[in-house]
Amino acid sequence: MINVTVAGAAGRMGKRISALCIGHEEIKLVGAVERKGHEYIGEDLGRVLGLSPIGVTITDNLEDLIEKTDVVVDFTMPQSTLHNLRIVSDASKAAVVGTTGFTKEERAQIRAFTERFPCVMAPNMSVGVNLLLKVLADIAKVLGDDYDVEIMETHHRLKKDAPSGTALRMAEVIASALGRNLDEAAVYSRKGLIGERSKKEIGIQCLRAADIVGEHMVMFATEGERIEIIHRASSRDTFAKGAIRAVLWVYGRPPGLYDMMDVLGLRGS
Ligand code: NAD
Repeated sequence: MINVTVAGAAGRMGKRISALCIGHEEIKLVGAVERKGHEYIGEDLGRVLGLSPIGVTITDNLEDLIEKTDVVVDFTMPQSTLHNLRIVSDASKAAVVGTTGFTKEERAQIRAFTERFPCVMAPNMSVGVNLLLKVLADIAKVLGDDYDVEIMETHHRLKKDAPSGTALRMAEVIASALGRNLDEAAVYSRKGLIGERSKKEIGIQCLRAADIVGEHMVMFATEGERIEIIHRASSRDTFAKGAIRAVLWVYGRPPGLYDMMDVLGLRGS
């Protein structure tokens, strides 16, 4: 059995991941962590999920749980993830990180940490989106600079970061396939007398409304035709199931920073 602790256990994703861990034949849920002051600290996680008690109390201290944990699953906030990864690193355990919204510096910090332990980190754990990332690179390479690239993402009104980590990853993959530097190519908003669209820009636009789980649309357009590739997530379980696959995959791996392309065997295929 792989002993898992979920950080952000009472959050939207943390609850679904915890629910999938309970009763899993290869995973044992041994810990649940929430932020200091959270209303569910001290509660049994089973009860918080609307189930019978499972004997796992939600705490605000990962350090107390790390010894009995094999893999920490973190769907929280960037600052909290960095704090948790330091604890994982010190104890030489493994991690699966789904949190998004990191700065470049924070990502560099995570890369440095993961020289000491195995970590799967992906802004989107769904199988469909990761397959799409691979397809997007192939499409961009074939279409080249003749096609304008625009990305649009739509999420629920409570999402804290923008653009979504997935939209940024899509933009990175396309920019890299086209030999562009995303820092120079990305255009995040348009307003006023902005002039003509430059040939190499990659537009990234965000919509926020109601309870939409997550939608991404990538458009490649040229005179006379356009291709639109759309992914719609209608349930968080698509991400939670991916996180569980990542837990099963990462346990026992050599140190390093991996993503879902590694987990799903899509790297270089
Ligand atoms: P949420 O706000 O519902 O949940 C986050 C939880 O983390 C909250 O319960 C919060 O109290 C908790 N938290 C905050 N600070 C903490 C700390 N220091 N220690 C422990 N817990 C702490 O958000 P969500 O919708 O569950 O999303 C969480 C993150 O996962 C976001 O960054 C989101 O973009 C990302 N996400 C990733 C994927 C993916 O597939 N990778 C899918 C959905 C969401």
